[in-house]
Amino acid sequence: MLDGLDLARPELLSGQSLIDGAWTDCERVIPVINPATGRKIGDVGDCGAHDAERAVAAASRALPGWRAIAPRTRQAALLRWRELILANAEDLARILTAEQGKPLVEARGEIHYAASFLEWFAEEAKRAYGDIIPGHQPDKRLLVLREPVGVVGAITPWNFPAAMITRKVGPALAVGCTMVLKPSELTPYTALALARLAVESALIPPGVFNVVVGEAEPIGAVLTQDPRVRKFSFTGSTAVGKMLGARCMSTVKRVSLELGGNAPFIVFDDADLGQAVEGAIASKFRNTGQTCVCANRLLVQSGVYSAFAEHLAERVSELAVGDGLKGQMDQGPLINEAALRKVERHVEDARAGGASALTGGHALPGEGCFYAPTVLVDVAPDALLCREETFGPVAGLVRFETEAEAIGLANEGTAGLASYLYTRDLDRAFRVTEALRYGMVGVNTGLISTEVAPFGGVRESGLGREGARQGLDDYLDYKLMCLGLAPDPGGRSG
Ligand code: ADP
Repeated sequence: MLDGLDLARPELLSGQSLIDGAWTDCERVIPVINPATGRKIGDVGDCGAHDAERAVAAASRALPGWRAIAPRTRQAALLRWRELILANAEDLARILTAEQGKPLVEARGEIHYAASFLEWFAEEAKRAYGDIIPGHQPDKRLLVLREPVGVVGAITPWNFPAAMITRKVGPALAVGCTMVLKPSELTPYTALALARLAVESALIPPGVFNVVVGEAEPIGAVLTQDPRVRKFSFTGSTAVGKMLGARCMSTVKRVSLELGGNAPFIVFDDADLGQAVEGAIASKFRNTGQTCVCANRLLVQSGVYSAFAEHLAERVSELAVGDGLKGQMDQGPLINEAALRKVERHVEDARAGGASALTGGHALPGEGCFYAPTVLVDVAPDALLCREETFGPVAGLVRFETEAEAIGLANEGTAGLASYLYTRDLDRAFRVTEALRYGMVGVNTGLISTEVAPFGGVRESGLGREGARQGLDDYLDYKLMCLGLAPDPGGRSG
């Protein structure tokens, strides 16, 4: 086993997929690499279309039983699973850091965040209320029932290998759906460890939650095209999400998409600069810049531009970078070589357009995919790093003069996930929030994610919401029961 992993329960690191309650071996395997060292952690089984179909069949068989039980029984199952996750949080965090790279402190935070979705949706299981509508005719009664959509196919990314799973499986299982999940092949161990604990809970019957690890394309084809899958939920890149979402239309599945962002982070002259710098660190550098809500373009008003840039560069230069399993780190590696190359390309492009680095601006020598935390000033608004998600530890600062100019720059492009603004003027806070075409706006904060608030985007950043009471909606259908009453024998009706 990988040095430094040191698990209390080594059996949690397993490469077998979970299909119909059974651990499945495959003929072929996929190696999983630790991005901090470039070394292999182990091999996981590479399931194909056939295994995905078996999982869908199992989820279909399990559906009638699971949807029929009382919500409080499903609640108990989710809460038991959550307890086991928390009891094994340290092992899960270590597995997560080993395959994903984020510092251990962030991995521990993610495990608790992941567990919070199970807690929240366990509570919400009892609150999938319908409506009773006054009848449109005297002899009619209208009841709107809420029912689980059915078998859910889910695909999740590598940047939050635990939380992106529970925010889908939590609501799905809570309302009585069953699920086939394909986690990222870059970070499958965390998903499989979560699945082990689901089985250990002994309250989630076989087939209700299946995890199929393997090459993306064949499994994705089943999850998006099999008619038994009635809902598809995806978190990942915009290009892949669009393609998979379009495929779902051949069988008219319900679709939820949580896609890329290109978050603007606006600092006005009247901001509290200390707060803005800390917010920028939290938003830009969390998970080494690899979150879909990471600040991607820092728009800073000219009156505070230099002061903000210097203060930020000072803080960024202090960030400890290294292998999260080997000491206290603030920044880990990027997920792989391709991610490192993309960051390099964005920085080169910004420099070619006149930007310069106050700190960082280069990859770090030695093993692993490390890039120095970077602050770039004088970035042109049309630089690559303002137009595409950089997904790396690079804060590019663009200068602006007026509020209208900032709003115009912020709304450029097609993404609409997270945005941030810093001001001490309440009128401006409302004015700018209302003008930003984004699903989420952080005002004087760089951290906006919680299980109790609806997370999601507008424009090309996605469809649907995760977390909060709205998070249940994507897994529920409406059914109208239109009841016709017989005439009142006493002749009082009408
Ligand atoms: P990222 O750029 O964040 O890696 P991707 O969209 O490539 O985002 O990956 C997100 C998830 O989508 C992963 O689980 C990945 O395996 C999956 N994925 C990527 N391409 C496909 C595809 N063609 N079909 C099905 N799933 C895919």
